[in-house]
Amino acid sequence: MKSKFYSVSIKFLIIQLLSVLCVSQSFDFFYFVQQWPGSYCDTSQSCCYPTSGKPAPDFSIHGLWPNNNDGSYPSNCDPNDPFDKSKISDLTGSMEKSWPSLACPSSNGLSFWSHEWNKHGTCSESVLNQHGYFQAALNLKNQVNLLQTLKTAGIQPNGESYSLESIKDAVTKGSGYTPWVECNTDESGNSQLYQIYLCVDTSAANFTECPVFPKGKCGSQITFPSF
Ligand code: AMP
Ligand code: AMP
Repeated sequence: MKSKFYSVSIKFLIIQLLSVLCVSQSFDFFYFVQQWPGSYCDTSQSCCYPTSGKPAPDFSIHGLWPNNNDGSYPSNCDPNDPFDKSKISDLTGSMEKSWPSLACPSSNGLSFWSHEWNKHGTCSESVLNQHGYFQAALNLKNQVNLLQTLKTAGIQPNGESYSLESIKDAVTKGSGYTPWVECNTDESGNSQLYQIYLCVDTSAANFTECPVFPKGKCGSQITFPSF
């Protein structure tokens, strides 16, 4: 009788342990990814301005993405905690400015934010709830002014070409951390500055040097289109 009790208890403990291991996703750091809207819009795919109008000519947030030191990343971690706009109603004004959707057809951003929370945000639930996740991204954007940093180094969104090295150097000087630059191509096939990645620790509050960089290639000279 006693041994049956113990065997049931042990089974129960193992099930508990497995459920904790399966549900709690771990990750090592975040990529905080900002985007130049001019480079989203001048591709052959084009873009649509949000329903609130053309965003300001500034870098905007693409996402805050949990990542692992080996380069892999978790995604879509918790279908039981889907995006809920009522949880971030106090942030949507700031998000319309700093995290605009440029996808077509025009939207108010909810579907973009929902995609980002469901795919990436749910993988950071061990640290942040929905409100904390979006608030953390907004706070990070306020900590580095990428456009100002580039302008100070003489790098302007005027369609001219700049060396990848000079862009990296400018962001490193301005933010204190080495960025990764992602390029895409405009309609004429020129390699251009599309997104800038900075790394953030698991608290989502502090920038940190990247443990690993993404893959992909820019030309050694890239354009910085206007918006
Ligand atoms: P992710 O799935 O988070 O890795 O992001 C890639 C997806 O985000 C692609 O489907 C992109 O087309 C989309 N995307 C990137 N930037 C924007 C933007 N500013 N507005 C809407 N969708 C975007
Ligand atoms: P590669 O030309 O790929 O051999 O890279 C030369 C150096 O530039 C290495 O330190 C790379 O990590 C760095 N690098 C290459 N492409 C990028 C990029 N898109 N953003 C940031 N650093 C890069």
